[in-house]
Order: sequence, then structure tokens, then C-alpha cells
Amino acid sequence: MHFRHLGRSGLKISEITYGNWITHGSQVENDTATACVRAALDAGITSFDTADVYANTKAEEVLGAALAHERRESLEIFTKVYFPTGPMGPNDTGLSRKHIMESINGSLRRLDTDYVDLYQAHRYDYATPLEETMQAFADVVRAGKALYIGVSEWTAEQLRAGHALAKELGISLISSQPQYSMVWRVIEDEVVPTSSELGISQIVWSPVAQGVLTGKYLPGQAAPDGSRAADTKGGAKMIEGLLGREDLLRRVQDLRPVAQELDLTMAQLAVAWVLQNDNVAAALIGASRPEQVAENVAAAGIRIPGELMKRIDEILAD
Ligand code: NDP
Repeated sequence: MHFRHLGRSGLKISEITYGNWITHGSQVENDTATACVRAALDAGITSFDTADVYANTKAEEVLGAALAHERRESLEIFTKVYFPTGPMGPNDTGLSRKHIMESINGSLRRLDTDYVDLYQAHRYDYATPLEETMQAFADVVRAGKALYIGVSEWTAEQLRAGHALAKELGISLISSQPQYSMVWRVIEDEVVPTSSELGISQIVWSPVAQGVLTGKYLPGQAAPDGSRAADTKGGAKMIEGLLGREDLLRRVQDLRPVAQELDLTMAQLAVAWVLQNDNVAAALIGASRPEQVAENVAAAGIRIPGELMKRIDEILAD
């Protein structure tokens, strides 16, 4: 495994980080979830990402149980706050001081840990003053319940404002968690340059585009059994936008020779591709079975030559 500093901080995380959205507590049974975590640990992954809202809090419980016997100091555990997880009272959502303070306690209880390494704002809250949010995060850090602060899907402007307030309050906002893959490159224009300037890293989600970049979804054909697209518990809905684009599925097949040239599988090529970006600290992978973890983790440390990066651009260009 390779490790990268998270933002301008001393914290190092594994450049392949394991996440449990859709899978733990939902698509896969707990035994399989535990086996995936085991495979991640065996492959040298030390960083694990979840959120209170995943499987309506169950994902945090499953991850906490799977990591229960590990040495806490050897792990980096990340979770998130924003979305409602239970009864929808007026304060059960967003980034108010009240919701943050209650959510962190619930997350720590479910993860069975005294602190998380990274506590992330899952989205930007337009209804709460940013000052209130950042002060609450600072208090969470001062209480020892989180070591660092991150955000997810914030714009460059929001990152800049949050970072400035964090600095005033003496805490570190060191990460941004956006979607990023060969087929979703929105962050390259503004988020990445601003983050590089501020000392914020990206932990990027869905690097294999939820399975699409593995090449297993063929244009005009039914989704393979057992895949996210065939998942009846909610996974299929999340991936349908990508699968509806037959032209994209066709072009993904054209990436196969590029992967072969590097002696990589398609999934490994996709994970390695996001890691070519210096502002990316980690590719945040999901898996529905342990073999996928073992396969994808081999992307760590791979360098894709410039001419192949260019060929990938040409294949996927609109
Ligand atoms: P990926 O793009 O890595 O997709 C993972 C899924 O793709 C697997 O569950 C599996 O699905 C399929 N897959 C992966 N590897 C292979 C392989 N080698 N062969 C065949 N199929 C494969 O990431 P996710 O979409 O799962 O997201 C990863 C993490 O990112 C989440 O767990 C979460 O932590 C984070 N995230 C954050 C968000 C945010 O708003 N901050 C939003 C979404 C995710 P299957 O086998 O079922 O087809």
C-alpha cells in the first residue's frame, strides 16, 4: 500500500480507501461486509469511510463491528454528517450546531470508537450560517471526538470560505470528498486548483463509476446478476443515469486495450487513473465482494504514462 498526506497536515491515509455506501447494511449480508473489510486490511488499507446516513445508520454499525478487533491507532476512520437518519424533525438535517453535536455522538457510538480521524460535512448547508457550522466542528475537535475536518461536494468558493473560518478557529479543514472518475471530471476546473492552493486534498468517490468502468455493463445487454445495477435494495437507482448512456458504455469497452497494455484490469486502470492527479489523496473504492477489493487495490502505486493518459482522454472525449 502507498500512503499520502491528507491536505497540508501530518495525517497520512492509504491511497486506496475503503467505503461502505450501498453495500454494508443494505446490498450485502454482514458476513460479506466483514470479509470485504478483512480483504481491505489484508491488502494494507488503513483508511475507512462511511456516513451516518448510509443504510440509515446500519453501515456505521457494520463497519464498527468489522473493525472492532483492530488496533485503533493503525486505522483512519472517516464519517459524515448532514443528511437525516431517522425521524424527520426540524433539526434532524443539515449542519446546525445541534445536528452536528447530536450526530457525532451517534456515529461514535455506532462505530464503537472514541474518536473519528476525519469528520466530514456531507453537503453544504445553505440554511445554516457557515460560522455556526465551523464553530461546531471546532468544538467537536476540541472535545477530542474528531481529529480533522473535511467536507464533501462543496464548491471551490465554499471550500475557500470554510477553510478561512477553520483557520481562524485553529482547526484543520484538510479534505474534500467529491465524485471523480474518468467519466466524471467536474472538479478539475475549480475545486482542484483551489484545493491545491489551500492545502486541501481530494478523497474521491466512485472511482470505477459504481462498476461501469470495470467494463461489465455491456451496451444493450441486461446487467449481470449480483451487480449494483441489479440490486433491488436501492443500488440500481443510483447507477441508472450512467447505464442509460449507451454511447458511454461503448466507449468504456474501447478502454480495454489500454488496460491490457499496462497489464491491468479495467477496474485497476480506473482506480489508477484518479490517483494520477496529485491533488487526490485517495481513491475511495466500494466493493460487494472481497475479490473486488483484492483486485482494485493493486492499482496503488501504478504510474500511467502520459501518452496512455492522452489516449484515454481521446477515447472518452464527448
Ligand atoms: P466504486 O466506483 O468503487 O464502485 C464500487 C462498486 O463497483 C462495487 O460495490 C461493485 O459493485 C463494483 N465493482 C468494484 N470493483 C469491481 C471489480 N473489480 N469488478 C467488478 N465490479 C466491481 O465506488 P462506490 O460508488 O461504491 O463509492 C465508494 C465510496 O465512496 C462509498 O462507499 C462512500 O464511502 C463514498 N461515497 C461518497 C459519496 C459522497 O457524497 N461523499 C457518494 C457516494 C459514495 P457490484 O459488484 O455490486 O456491481
